[in-house]
Amino acid sequence: MALAVFSGGSAREGTSGSSASVTDPSSGETIATFKLAGAADVDNAVSAARTGFEVWSRVPPVERSSALIRLADRLTSRAQEYAETETRQTGKPIRLSTEFDVPGSIDNVAFFAGAARNLEGKAAAEWDGVHTSLIRREPIGVVGSIAPWNYPLQMAMWKVLPAVAAGNTIVLKPAEITPLTSLMLAEDCAAVDIPPGVVNVVVGTGPVAGEALVGHPGVDMVSFTGSTPVGRRVMELATRGIKRVHLELGGKAPFIVFDDADLEAAVHGAVAASLINTGQDCTAATRAYVQRPLYDAFVAGVADLFESIRLGAPLDPATDLGPLVSSRQAERVAGFVERARAAGARVVTGGSAPGGDLAAGAYYRPTLVVDARQESEIVRDEVFGPVLVVLPFDTEDEGLALANDTVYGLAASAWTRDVFRALRAQREIRAGCVWINDHIPIVSEMPHGGFGQSGFGKDMSTYSFDEYTLVKHVSLDITGEARKPWHRTIFTDNG
Ligand code: NAD
Repeated sequence: MALAVFSGGSAREGTSGSSASVTDPSSGETIATFKLAGAADVDNAVSAARTGFEVWSRVPPVERSSALIRLADRLTSRAQEYAETETRQTGKPIRLSTEFDVPGSIDNVAFFAGAARNLEGKAAAEWDGVHTSLIRREPIGVVGSIAPWNYPLQMAMWKVLPAVAAGNTIVLKPAEITPLTSLMLAEDCAAVDIPPGVVNVVVGTGPVAGEALVGHPGVDMVSFTGSTPVGRRVMELATRGIKRVHLELGGKAPFIVFDDADLEAAVHGAVAASLINTGQDCTAATRAYVQRPLYDAFVAGVADLFESIRLGAPLDPATDLGPLVSSRQAERVAGFVERARAAGARVVTGGSAPGGDLAAGAYYRPTLVVDARQESEIVRDEVFGPVLVVLPFDTEDEGLALANDTVYGLAASAWTRDVFRALRAQREIRAGCVWINDHIPIVSEMPHGGFGQSGFGKDMSTYSFDEYTLVKHVSLDITGEARKPWHRTIFTDNG
């Protein structure tokens, strides 16, 4: 039995009374079984984090930074183990884990090791001439974080790093189907002498451990990454405690191809950006809008490449596309495609699970859908699978309007060789990230976060400190006078 709770520097079993298994989605084989955490475990973890906060919030930034440098070294030495564990629990191809998830996570640690020493406020000044104002950026306290299953290690990093770099402590609840690398991370934080109680992990279900964490009076801030409906519930619970909330929610990223685009680049970009992580990426290209002159060639090019994608075992370096994270998710994706078909859309390629050796896994073929209506479910809702819908448009304004016709606003891309059109597109598109002639790459230095129902607040970059710090104004009298001019509002005989 694996241990579901890491708090106050040590690991133990959860006490909720229920158990869950982590499954390899390529085979259905059980990898680990946990006694899940319940409300009492969350309570213990929050207590440990409160005790940890008394220590960690007083640790000088340079020491917090050194601890993160040690963590980066530790992760580097275990990079292969992290990559294999991540691949086994999610089904993502090992090339993705070794070339993106793990190095990206290590780079995040290195970035926040530097950023910890650069927390800044506005310049001090005597704004009214008689007081010196200082701005302090202070940690908030205990952060309760909840993460999804699609990029377990990276999502844990995006939660933990800005929080602890700024002097907070954290209780992280990973998705219960993919907790293994989050638990490894907590152990490694302890191994590099990050003090007990700074990084705590509880593995439990959303309704039990998640809600206990969000509603806990000892939690000062809630940071959630996941679906929009669960984010709404988290926000409602957090509101009761007047807690600061940071929400990274769903997406339905448009991919706009103008008639002057480099067609080969757009086709390759659309295939990579829609299939990355088997389409289980909140920024994945999901709706391609293609200007009429390029539409047929784009559809044909994407269909050809989709058919060349090699589905296979996640640990095989030759595999392009692994299974979805679970058979439940594969069924959900298949349901979207079936309902789209029933509503009159056409499946150009894919639209089914492969058989043969892959039949036991949660696989689904790369699927290209056309002739769907803009109002239809497959164009509007998050499928979270290897499915791309392509729709035509005529004018630039129409293409941009269709892209913005969504409740989400996480990411988008525009493909054009006209510099003026590119500038207009980046201005008009309502999303937290707009790529021009690419779609997906992210860097630790730049913020990630949504507009609209994709949530609010930023992960990564120094912008994330706006979420994880409180701004305090300190005002110091510089006159030394006992009777101050403004006292006239109270004392009629003053001065
Ligand atoms: P989910 O919303 O089902 O679950 C996310 C987390 O919330 C899990 O840990 C889950 O256990 C927990 N949870 C569930 N019910 C809860 C409740 N009532 N109270 C508290 N916690 C609860 O999402 P998922 O299926 O794990 O992940 C996929 C979703 O995450 C997609 O919508 C995707 O777009 C989104 N996502 C967004 C970003 C981003 O940066 N915006 C990044 C990755 C994933």
